[in-house]
Parts: sequence; structure tokens; C-alpha cells
Amino acid sequence: MVPRNYHPLNTRKIMYKLQKSKMNTENDSSAKTSQIFSDYYRRRQSLMDNPHNKFAFSREKRIIHDRECHLVKRIPDEQFEMLTEFDEEMAPCSACYRRMLIRSAFVNQHRKIGLYVKFFDKIGCGNRKLKKLLFKTDTQLIDVGIDDLTIKVNEDTWFLQICNDVLDLYHNNYSVNDDFTRTFTSGYHLQNVYKNPKYFSCAISEIMTYSWNVHMQNSKGSAGVTYFEELKSKFNTVNNYKQVKESQYHATFHFLDYNYQAIQFIAAEDIIFNIRGQLDCDFIGRDEPYSLFQCRVKKSDVPAFKHAMKLLKDRAYSAKEYEYIEACQLL
Ligand SMILES: [Zn+2]
Repeated sequence: MVPRNYHPLNTRKIMYKLQKSKMNTENDSSAKTSQIFSDYYRRRQSLMDNPHNKFAFSREKRIIHDRECHLVKRIPDEQFEMLTEFDEEMAPCSACYRRMLIRSAFVNQHRKIGLYVKFFDKIGCGNRKLKKLLFKTDTQLIDVGIDDLTIKVNEDTWFLQICNDVLDLYHNNYSVNDDFTRTFTSGYHLQNVYKNPKYFSCAISEIMTYSWNVHMQNSKGSAGVTYFEELKSKFNTVNNYKQVKESQYHATFHFLDYNYQAIQFIAAEDIIFNIRGQLDCDFIGRDEPYSLFQCRVKKSDVPAFKHAMKLLKDRAYSAKEYEYIEACQLL
């Protein structure tokens, strides 16, 4: 018996309806996904559009990059974050570290970053020195040309110009008031001339160590103390070694070598020594001419070892390797 209202099933029609509804659900979810992706993308774009955002990182990997680093493109939109200040807690990307140091002192001249890199390369300013100079809130890179740089540190502005392998350092003009404060006037005066490319980073040191108060006190005294005289007095008080271990018969030292010259001075002392390979040291950059070593000597040879270290330090100083003397202070 067949029910009255029975209609034979049209299976083809049903299958078509089922398929159509399935396709609609799929379309809905892929539209939603692409909506989320475009939200992430828009967020990334608006972060990038803000020129105050200097650094980028992935929330997952937490490696900090310069905003123009080629590796930034690899950060997925949904992980993308930016920062206005360099975060020293994060691991810095080695491909763009130097650019990050430079960008940290930018006010608004982002397009010139390549010129800044070239200028600091030209004056032989390594990353360690660059970090010391630029990682301060009171340092601002003002402008750069092919052979010149304008930089403001604290309240003073400096103009550095390279001409025929000589670096001229100019300092902003000012007049001194009755109460020994200053009024800045326009233009610059020549502060120092660095005739050897090796002195270039000394110009950076001079800028960093300049302080009006110290300058004033020195001028009021019998003779002004120059940066080099200051360094010379430091030179006498710093050591290029430190003792790290002592046993019954031996003493172990860490020492700062300069251009791998230590071995000849130590060997000349006619002592038995044992030098271990180069040590990792966070204050020595990859581009520095000095390195940290460990040396073990017999206790009776300690005075001879110290004498060798003194000769090494004298050699660095007479070669005007002032950076070496500065690095010894960090040992
Ligand atoms: Zn990078």
C-alpha cells in the first residue's frame, strides 16, 4: 500500500541541494578567515606607517629588527609588533644591529640611514662605540652628508667633517655668561683635528666625554685638561689583565690582547705559560682589534707576566690605540 501524499524521491535534486548548502558554508568560513587576515595586514600597515615605530619583532620569536631589515618581511602579520624604543631585553638581529643602533638616535630623518651607516663605517666607528654614543636618550643624530655628520649630545651640537683623510671636529659656538652658564650662538668653531684615521673614534670619545661643567672647572684651573691628557692619566691606573684564579703553584689571569701581540711579550719573558683560546666577552665587538684570553703561569713567574702585560699596554698606547685603554677599564 502506498500513502496518498507520497511523491517519489528525486535523489538528484536532493544531492544538488546538499552540495549547494555545503559550498555556501565553505564560502562563509573562507570569507571570515580572509577578513581576519586582512585585519592583521591592516594593523601591520598602520604600525609601519607610524615613523616613530623604529623597530619590529615577532611576538613568537622576540628577535628585535630594524624596521627596514629584510627579515622583517618574514614576520607573519598576526605576529607582527613594533616598538618606538630599542628593547635591550630582546635578542637583536645580527643582520641589522648596526642600523638599529643608528636609528635609535634618529629624530625624523629615516631616509638617510644608509648615509649614516657609510659615515660611521668611514670613520671606523665600531658597534661597541656606536652603542655607547647612541643608546642614550640625550643623543640625537641631526644630519649627515657623504663626508660630514651633525650630532647633538646633551646640550652641545657637533659637526664632523672628513677632508683628505683628516677629520675636523667642530663644536657649536656659545658665549659664557657671568654665572658661567652658556648662551648658544650660531655657527661652529674648530675643536680638534684628527690626522690619522685611527683617531676618528677618538673624536667620538671626545664628544661623549665633553661636559661643560668639567670644561669650565679645567679652564678655571691653571691649565685645561684635554681628552688625551685625561686618557693618559687613566692609562696609568688601568690594567690590561686581572687575576681570576689561584692554586698552590699557579695563578690564572684574564688579559686583553691587542692585535695578537701579547704572545711575543710573554714569550720574551722566558716563562712557562699556558694560554687558553679566545674568551667570549660582551664588551668586545666583532670589529675590535683586541680580544680576551686566559693565561696560567707559575706563581714565581707572576711578576714577569705582569711586566709583559705592561709592555703590551705601553705598545698600544704609543700606537695611539686609545680604544684599547678604554676597553681595559671595562675588564
Ligand atoms: Zn634584522
